Amino acid sequence: MTQCYVAPIIEIDRERCTTPFACKKCLQICPTAVFGVRETRQVRLEETDKFAPGSFRLRVAYRDKCSGCNRCVDVCPESALTVRMPEEVLE
Ligand code: SF4
Ligand code: SF4
Repeated sequence: MTQCYVAPIIEIDRERCTTPFACKKCLQICPTAVFGVRETRQVRLEETDKFAPGSFRLRVAYRDKCSGCNRCVDVCPESALTVRMPEEVLE
């Protein structure tokens, strides 16, 4: 029987994670670089304030690389992350 690996589901509470570019703790600790961060708005010739809530957005860029180690959950100072296994695991 062949087993398929089903990556965990990663949820981000954006009410809690408001300044991800200033924080970056989950990005730095993740051993497989699952997360990415991008600007939500850009003003030409102006540097975006990384401390302004909502100016950057954390996203799950490579969910399939997640091993479910939970390091990001443990390190997040805002308790903004949830990592859980899908209820149905394919076999
Ligand atoms: S560690 Fe938490 S607060 Fe910091 S960027 Fe990641 S999810 Fe956001
Ligand atoms: S659970 Fe581990 S592998 Fe998955 S996103 Fe968090 S730190 Fe990365």
